[in-house]
Amino acid sequence: MANQFDGRVALVTGGASGIGRVAAQAFAREGARVIVCTDANIKGGEETVKMIKEAGGEASFVKCDVSKAADVEAMVDKCISLYGRLDYAFNNAGIGPDGKRVPIANIVDCPEEIWDRTIDINLKGVFLCMKYELKQMLKQKYGVIVNTSSVGAYKPVPGFCAYDASKIGVIGLTKEAALEVAAAGIRVNAVLPGPTDRTLLFDYLTGAKPEEKNKMMNVIPMKRIGHPEDIAAAVVWLCSDSASFITGHVMPVDGGMSAM
Ligand code: NAD
Repeated sequence: MANQFDGRVALVTGGASGIGRVAAQAFAREGARVIVCTDANIKGGEETVKMIKEAGGEASFVKCDVSKAADVEAMVDKCISLYGRLDYAFNNAGIGPDGKRVPIANIVDCPEEIWDRTIDINLKGVFLCMKYELKQMLKQKYGVIVNTSSVGAYKPVPGFCAYDASKIGVIGLTKEAALEVAAAGIRVNAVLPGPTDRTLLFDYLTGAKPEEKNKMMNVIPMKRIGHPEDIAAAVVWLCSDSASFITGHVMPVDGGMSAM
């Protein structure tokens, strides 16, 4: 249904590229005004906003490092001052193992800095976002949150200890939050993308090499790599009224990988 989010406001973290950019565009196409956030890739965030505006939608960029409480609080405040409310939050910002070829390091070799940075952004970032988003949603007595976990939470890969732990943690936090706010009419769910193309993360993992992409495709039961649009469609649906009785749910969008 087009324009099902008219009058609504959506916040997308990690909206400078990949899944977040496509999800921000999808929210806008449904009529939502969108806050796009990212920390370092400001050019990418502004580009996402430009793309939405050129397509006739409304969006604003806010610089925010999701691992910093003051940044996250300011981002939610900015959203309220700009648009007056916050209906949907897609907590999607995340980093991969370390931006190099995998596997990066088994537990015995994993540098403490990689562990801390990954947990700070991927897990604490989701905690901080929900903390401030839920404060506003509880005031409104309305809201839907979708957090990005990963198929890695169900299918851990040796060498990805911090990443996999962070994404398993996101599932726990999602269920915890869902139970805490269910009676207030607020829903919280998670998506678990499988390998997804046109993302910086996927390019890191495959070294952007076609032969590596093919290898990855062959381990996916549906024999194709996911597209950001596959994940965005699930996120929009989880936020929609069609999913109004769904909370605490963990939804793989992975071509069947997590069923193996
Ligand atoms: P991506 O690298 O293209 O996007 C990540 C986004 O997060 C970027 O916009 C980046 O600027 C932002 N970001 C990074 N650190 C941040 C911080 N501290 N504060 C705010 N923003 C920050 O990759 P993507 O695949 O689109 O990643 C989106 C999410 O999907 C991530 O959580 C990732 O773990 C998850 N995921 C991706 C895949 C895949 O194959 N691409 C698979 C499973 C899960």
